[in-house]
Amino acid sequence: MWIPITIDDYVKIHLHNNPNEKEKVLRVRIDAALDDYKNGVKCQCGKDIWIVGSASSPFGCFSCITERDYPAGDYEIDGALDKRDKDGRININFMDPRKINGIFDEDGFIINMDSIKKPALCLICIKNYIDNWDENLLCNMNRAEQEDDEEFKCGAYEKL
Ligand SMILES: [Zn+2]
Repeated sequence: MWIPITIDDYVKIHLHNNPNEKEKVLRVRIDAALDDYKNGVKCQCGKDIWIVGSASSPFGCFSCITERDYPAGDYEIDGALDKRDKDGRININFMDPRKINGIFDEDGFIINMDSIKKPALCLICIKNYIDNWDENLLCNMNRAEQEDDEEFKCGAYEKL
């Protein structure tokens, strides 16, 4: 998970930890990385570049710079937290934690609720006709989890 941070706040922290670096140079690097990010320039591996990491390393994504798969409480500039994968899906690791909403697949990508297939069982279930956000979300999560299974099972099924 990312910790969103403004450029100004990050510059303060970075200079505190690296007192020999020049603020001007750091800001130029951050701005350049952010520009690249916004222009769709990717890491050599194809992923979005990590602005904070690119401020002190050659421009690259989080995984290439840190050799870790996912950020865990690492900073990222808030203007670069709308990261999406190549299909335009949002990954939970790149979302502002205050704005996480919806359901995500095993890889952390958001699932478009409209794309979830509705099993036949749902069509004869009371829950399918209840307009309750929480209930509908639970139904969708159950459907999404079993999307690739042959038989759909549901503990919440209630015959119409
Ligand atoms: Zn990379």
